[in-house]
Amino acid sequence: MTCCEPVAGQSLLDLTFAGLERALVSAGLPAVHTRALWRALHHELAAELPARTDFVPPLQRWLREQVGEGKPFTVAMPTQVADIASGDGLTRKFLLRLADGQTVETVLMAYDGRHTACLSTQAGCAMGCVFCATGQMGFVRHLTPGEIVAQVRHVQLAQRTAGKPGLRNLVLMGMGEPLHNYDSVMAALEIISDRRGLNLGPTKITISTVGVAPGILRMAEERRPYQLAVSLHGATEEERSALVPASRRWSLAELMAACRTYFAQTGRRIFFEWTLIAGVNDSTAQAGRLALLLAGLDAHVNLIPLNPTGGFAGGPTQQAAAKAFQAVLKDAGFPSTIRQRRGIDVAAGCGQLRAEKTRASGGKPAA
Ligand code: SAH
Ligand code: SF4
Repeated sequence: MTCCEPVAGQSLLDLTFAGLERALVSAGLPAVHTRALWRALHHELAAELPARTDFVPPLQRWLREQVGEGKPFTVAMPTQVADIASGDGLTRKFLLRLADGQTVETVLMAYDGRHTACLSTQAGCAMGCVFCATGQMGFVRHLTPGEIVAQVRHVQLAQRTAGKPGLRNLVLMGMGEPLHNYDSVMAALEIISDRRGLNLGPTKITISTVGVAPGILRMAEERRPYQLAVSLHGATEEERSALVPASRRWSLAELMAACRTYFAQTGRRIFFEWTLIAGVNDSTAQAGRLALLLAGLDAHVNLIPLNPTGGFAGGPTQQAAAKAFQAVLKDAGFPSTIRQRRGIDVAAGCGQLRAEKTRASGGKPAA
């Protein structure tokens, strides 16, 4: 079964435009009606499709007969469990409950007048990065395309209700490893970037990966038009695999070879993420090794002082050491940004809100 075959109770949000068209045509409807339904779903963000009276009668009938509880299709939207704003008002974090009770986090950030949503791609994560709250909880399951699309809808609707502008940017930096859930993520991004619907420009969408080398190569081969960010955190095999266990599966050498192939095939800048942990990976010598590793690439480094988590003893690098690290990169010709640890009062690190809610409910997933 592929992600987009119509099966009982499948969410219409799982379907790409072509998938929705196939579903209508196989029910005997003309393909031309796809556009109106797509617009209602992904542009108007309508929820009550079977009640609509403005579609052509055959489409209205199909919706009444096929969409709803106990019918072949649904429009599955998650339930909001928490909606917490940071003290500075610039970050809003949603905890969303999916149909099977799993919870995922979606974050809305409003910096410099640009609205960015940070999406989850899995419940939990199998990669086990030692400093990450999601890694500490382990892998639960992949999200479907519709569950990823629904997070964007949720944020867009929240913005609309608050009279705020729509989203401009998306980052896949919430819970989970996007390239471990490749097919669902790519289907979701095709839906989200479709100009007839949510219409988020592909170059405004960033996929962040722990370094799944085969996924990076596949993105290049398939000419996926999204931005790529690679989480490094260490510039030698030994230092990296102490923080990122997945590095034993896809070594640093294999990862950097994939990045070079990606760059050669796409000509695109690659973003590299480096979580700065005091006394662990924040020396100027380590910055020098990072610069050597990146030689020849068009690279931008995002330096993220650690958000402390329950399961890891390390602390964040202080500003002066972060600046010294940055200066070494600059001397080697690499631009970098030190990310503010904003919204820390809303447990801004990936997976931290779910972890907190799970602890508060005695170890069961937040309900
Ligand atoms: N799985 C993907 C995307 C989700 S994590 C990846 O690892 O890239 C998004 C980013 O947040 C990664 O760079 C990750 O290393 C970083 N991150 C995770 N936990 C963090 C924490 N506690 N403090 C700072 N950065 C963290
Ligand atoms: Fe997974 Fe990314 Fe967290 Fe690592 S940092 S455990 S890959 S979500």
